[in-house]
Amino acid sequence: MVSLSSSARLLPFPLLQSFIRPFSSSATLLRGYSRRSSPIAAAFSQASQSSHAVREGQVMEAPRPSSRRPWKPTCLYYTQGKCAMMKDAMHLEKFSHNLMVDLPVNASATDKVKPQKLDYLLILDLEGKVEILEFPVVMIDAQSMEFIDSFHRFVRPTAMSEHRIREYIEGKYGKFGVDRVWHDTAIHFKEVLQEFEDWIGNHNLWKKEQGGSLNNAAFVTCGNWDLKTKVPEQCKVSKIKLPTYFMEWINLKDIYLNFYCRRATGMMTMMRELQLPIVGSHHLGIDDSKNIARVVQHMLADGAMMQITAKRQSATGDVKFLFKDRIR
Ligand SMILES: [Zn+2]
Repeated sequence: MVSLSSSARLLPFPLLQSFIRPFSSSATLLRGYSRRSSPIAAAFSQASQSSHAVREGQVMEAPRPSSRRPWKPTCLYYTQGKCAMMKDAMHLEKFSHNLMVDLPVNASATDKVKPQKLDYLLILDLEGKVEILEFPVVMIDAQSMEFIDSFHRFVRPTAMSEHRIREYIEGKYGKFGVDRVWHDTAIHFKEVLQEFEDWIGNHNLWKKEQGGSLNNAAFVTCGNWDLKTKVPEQCKVSKIKLPTYFMEWINLKDIYLNFYCRRATGMMTMMRELQLPIVGSHHLGIDDSKNIARVVQHMLADGAMMQITAKRQSATGDVKFLFKDRIR
């Protein structure tokens, strides 16, 4: 049997899931492009099919209880541009292949939205304590609040034995039933960043020749850990220079504190206070990123301004925090 892990890595990335952002900045045009799905065909083994098994231990709550469509887990091969079962009716019945369904915009709740300095928000919620195991990004239009696209990769540790990786993944993802898809798809952090750069490049959010910062877009994280601590640590382990696009970010907790004048220690607190149900599995990175994106959509609808809260000085590497009142 052909294993997906070997065949999938050979698939040309740009065909997989990136959508070309048109030159026109018209949001309507852009959304039209972004909604297209891009199914891929690849040899797929029986063994790999069984790995699409139901994920266990999930909180199954529909974002729209009135919706006829029951909530279903997202296909994690699809989110990584590697689903080869897009023509299998049973598979499509069981797994969602559309992230938009978890991130609907309430069109009647847009009157309080403030003009934003940034066009796009890249919600990032890394997983992995020893090394990064998952790099999920959800892209939201800051003005219309609509879901535009996502970038999701499982990340294979660089400095860890195979045996240790097996244990680590079993402990971390076994309970969600997604350890198999992790092993089938994970790639090294260095390759993840190369593919991520193709993705932000295709969306016109970044150009290597233009100094490497993001163009009218910013990362949104829940806390400072992801970009202050973890990414620089992983860059050291992976022996790569910290890319310029990681030098500034929006800590949603600081925006939350300054906008609502109350502290939230994490995503769960924010969701509880905003009365948003948790969708999917908490601590599965792509599901957490979608849930944080729903907090962002809610805050934008309430009139919050999304702006940079932390900047790393390129000379010293020190991080400067831009808000006086912030979560420490
Ligand atoms: Zn699929």
